[in-house]
Amino acid sequence: MVHASLDKRPPARKPESAGRPRVAVLLPLPFPGPFDYAVPPALADLQPGDIVSVPLGRRTETGVVWDPTPALPPEFTPPPMKPVADGRLKPVISRLDQPPLPGALRRFVDWVAAYTLSPPGMVLAMALRTAATAPVALTTGWALAEPPPELRDTPARRRVLEISRSDGPLPGAELARRAGVGTSVVRGLADAGALRAVVLKPAPPFAAPDPAHCPPTLGDGQREAAQSLRDLAGAGGFSVTLLEGVTGSGKTEIYLEAIAACLERGRQVLVLLPEIALSAQWTGRFARRFGAEPALWHSDLGPRLRRVTWHAVAEGSARVVVGARSALFLPFAELGLIIVDEEHESAFKQEDGVTYHARDMAVVRARMDHAPIILVSATPSLETLANVGAGRYRHLALTARHGGAAMPEVRTVDMRAHPPERGLFLSPLLTEAMRATMERGEQAMLFLNRRGYAPLTLCRTCGHRLQCPNCTAWLVEHRARRVITCHHCGYQEPTPPTCPSCHAEASLTPIGPGVERITEEARATFPDARLLVMASDTLPGPAATADAVAQIARREVDLVIGTQIVAKGWHFPHLTLVGVVDADLGLGGGDLRAAERTVQLLHQVAGRAGRAEAPGTVLLQSYCTEHPVMQALVSGDLASFMRQEAEQRRPGFWPPFGRLAALIVSADTPEAADATARALGGGAPRGEGLQVLGPAPAPLAILRGRHRRRLLLRARREIALQPIVREWLERVPPERGARIDVDIDPVSFL
Ligand code: ADP
Ligand code: ZN
Repeated sequence: MVHASLDKRPPARKPESAGRPRVAVLLPLPFPGPFDYAVPPALADLQPGDIVSVPLGRRTETGVVWDPTPALPPEFTPPPMKPVADGRLKPVISRLDQPPLPGALRRFVDWVAAYTLSPPGMVLAMALRTAATAPVALTTGWALAEPPPELRDTPARRRVLEISRSDGPLPGAELARRAGVGTSVVRGLADAGALRAVVLKPAPPFAAPDPAHCPPTLGDGQREAAQSLRDLAGAGGFSVTLLEGVTGSGKTEIYLEAIAACLERGRQVLVLLPEIALSAQWTGRFARRFGAEPALWHSDLGPRLRRVTWHAVAEGSARVVVGARSALFLPFAELGLIIVDEEHESAFKQEDGVTYHARDMAVVRARMDHAPIILVSATPSLETLANVGAGRYRHLALTARHGGAAMPEVRTVDMRAHPPERGLFLSPLLTEAMRATMERGEQAMLFLNRRGYAPLTLCRTCGHRLQCPNCTAWLVEHRARRVITCHHCGYQEPTPPTCPSCHAEASLTPIGPGVERITEEARATFPDARLLVMASDTLPGPAATADAVAQIARREVDLVIGTQIVAKGWHFPHLTLVGVVDADLGLGGGDLRAAERTVQLLHQVAGRAGRAEAPGTVLLQSYCTEHPVMQALVSGDLASFMRQEAEQRRPGFWPPFGRLAALIVSADTPEAADATARALGGGAPRGEGLQVLGPAPAPLAILRGRHRRRLLLRARREIALQPIVREWLERVPPERGARIDVDIDPVSFL
């Protein structure tokens, strides 16, 4: 991201001005704004949103005709740039045969760019990434030729002609299949002139969900909340609602009713999930309720499906889209409702390229489309709770689990009092509970948010630690794959047989556990148990995840061992014990949200236990059982905990009571990084309610070979950060070889 020249935005289109007619065209490239192009007479009716081909230097690029003036709050609007003289204008080449980008999406692109201080073209790139430029491939079908030619008559040929007459134009293979003949018969008829080729419009790939297909019978606590959401979604108009409810209370069940109301109103729905691995189970539930599958959107879709889906969303034939954060940039023709499930999840923050928080930007998108948005969570973020407290968001709460299932009992296991045996990581208290659970024929789960075998490998002889050559990070052993790898840059090498430093043999020792090591321990302790490991690197993709989940639901598994992927909203009816191997894991590091996030994550994991008749138990292995986080999880009184968290953040104007922008300097050399960071520190903005922390080396001081420094700008809530940061970057350009990335509302502080 280059921010230095963000303010040099070219002027908007001025169709009424004298001279050649011109339009602004935004290109999906890191320029500071749209460029002007001349409008040739044949394209006199170009409209904002039209997708066009334009020359750029010697290349041809695809861009979007942009609006004359971006509709942004004044503090966001960058000053205009000098207009290009008529004589230097180049003409638009052509308009592509594509649905135009809707106005609400164009305003959204401008807004996200201004808010995140990114070039608008890079935000547009996310809306166009979908190969909008290549139209959906058309297939050839065969229709009866008129008049029919003279023909050698056979039964096979007659069947084909009958099907063609009754079923209309069909692709060759389909025609042959329906007639029960080989495709050579169809080809023969075509060669004989009895069938003629026609272009087939692609069939709508997404069946329409039916809001009346299979409505639920709602419980007492649920009915009111569902009605309230139905009213909102049925009426339309912008509003934000937090749907809060303990795990298993039926939040999904209830927001499906809001979706039904939106569909009845003839509008489209967008559902954002933090992780696409969740989509398989979600899609199944959706299909049972509505009798059709939703459209799916995520970065792993194949190019063809991406194209088809993009077009179906633009034309309105895809009524409901469920997707990851990038689905926010789809060209909805008539968006009527947005749902953000698990709104507290930090996975909604995009950390590469344009850094944006999909939950927050979803609220903006809802406002642009005049649509209601529902934020859903069992453990809402402090940001959302503060908005509820200030009356900006509505609040609906579900307090009991559906069907009378009890909340699980949460207990700590004090590892100081009940330590594991030497070299092991599970306390006897936990293994006993696991044994009892499995003996009752119920399922147990172990949770450890750490992939691989061990987070650190050390030489017992010389003390050498295996470190990434590109990053300030330890290499993590993955024993099953016989490699050590960096979880930050992906660096990987075979696990060395001897110490790379002192060459001692059999001296490398794993320190600490990852899921692989816990699996090894569990296998040794419970040799007869059927184990299943769920980690992002052992489950390649949503289908594998869905398969694992289905195995658990069918009781083909006794013990599940997993990383954060098991914490998601899965419904495991026979799971009654959850053991958290290291409940203290997320508390170190001094991250602003460390405590909040740990509570959310562990509460979510705990919520997997006892969701049906049998009551659930959760055991938290901890070396600091007196910590407020553990106490909150044991008591279940998360509301009090969040109030205390809020009170700690309020006096210092930490989010949500203030705003943060992080500046991350990265450079080829430590000198360039330091020089730029010092210059930024020296030129830091001053003023009432503003504070700059740093520069300081980033915790990941070297990442992918780049040296990194951080500065943090903190401001009171009422101060808009963007103009301050923009002006700051303009005053302090980066050194040669250095760059400055801006992260507004940072979530990660690495
Ligand atoms: P949450 O999203 O709050 O964790 P879910 O919506 O997943 O809760 O509901 C938990 C379980 O209870 C699911 O299996 C769901 O199908 C079931 N459930 C919830 N409400 C109802 C209802 N009214 N009728 C039938 N089943 C329900
Ligand atoms: Zn690395």
